[in-house]
Amino acid sequence: MIDMPTFEDVAAAAARIKPYTHETRVVGSRLLNKYLGVEVLIKCENQQRAGSFKSRGVFNAILARSERGLVSKDRGVVTYSSGNHGQAMALASYQLEIPAVVLMATDSPKVKVDMAKSYGIEVMMYDPEEDDRIAMAAEIAKERDWEVIPSFDDGELIAGHGTAVMELVREVGHLDDVVVPVGGGGLISGSALAAKVFNPNVKVWGVEPEAANDAQRSLEKGEIVTISSPMTIADGARVRHITELTFAIMKAKVDGIVSVPDDMIFTSMKLVADRLKLVAEPTGVLGLAGIKKLVADGRIERGSRVGVVLSGGNVDLDTFAACLAKPDDAIAQMQAWLA
Ligand SMILES: *Cc1c(COP(=O)(O)O)cnc(C)c1O
Repeated sequence: MIDMPTFEDVAAAAARIKPYTHETRVVGSRLLNKYLGVEVLIKCENQQRAGSFKSRGVFNAILARSERGLVSKDRGVVTYSSGNHGQAMALASYQLEIPAVVLMATDSPKVKVDMAKSYGIEVMMYDPEEDDRIAMAAEIAKERDWEVIPSFDDGELIAGHGTAVMELVREVGHLDDVVVPVGGGGLISGSALAAKVFNPNVKVWGVEPEAANDAQRSLEKGEIVTISSPMTIADGARVRHITELTFAIMKAKVDGIVSVPDDMIFTSMKLVADRLKLVAEPTGVLGLAGIKKLVADGRIERGSRVGVVLSGGNVDLDTFAACLAKPDDAIAQMQAWLA
């Protein structure tokens, strides 16, 4: 396994995953530009296969391990996620005919469990209160002599995730800034590796929900900070802590991380639906939601060319409708309902 991935790993990932992933569209909006004070170029990973950029890293991680003889039709992969990583894993396992076990929390939405099972993968449940899913995955992998693919803490995943920004820069040319959501830090790590090769002066910014700003706090404090139960609508960013690998890459390559309240997420989902006619999930709009703050703080200059990854579109229609319809005083209620 590669430890600290490089731009060469991102380029290799791009070639490897090309037959299996979409080169997603880049869109913009004059109204959004006016509202934000910059020129935004939005990479539509909500329209990526399985509904998020996660397919990029997952296809790369499986294909690279298969090149190294670590996985095959008889020797599968084990992972843990009821979110987009699990969905991407289900798709890749089906398409590449590599068997997979995905550990999902007992409180996962039934639709996600059913969707994963429909691809023919083995779903095992764990109790998020009681069980250590990383240890469980390691144990299953050991018993079967299979490979663990973690949900963000992996060089091959990170290299695959970096292909989104690589495509974006190849398509639109010069960018002054790149802004992406942050959960465990896999996406921003890959994005920074890709962006800085094309323009060493490009600034790379991450955005977290205020209630789950562990990466922001870790960078400020100089050590990894843990948040025990992050309460935010942005389920893809409810990560308790980043890891040594993503922390090291962020320290070296990321210019800063800001956090936004959930009501900025709702506003951004509305803007994306209204202006771009796109369905995005709450975590998916974090990058966009952070731009106004980055401009207000003077970290992004007015008039800059800013690339943004709209990272995912997997949202239940009921939740989507509730986010769009949400009166401002209902934020707290809605969070409690979704917790
Ligand atoms: C996983 C995910 C993120 C966060 O990615 P990390 O690599 O964990 O930082 C952001 N948006 C969406 C839609 C995701 O699924």
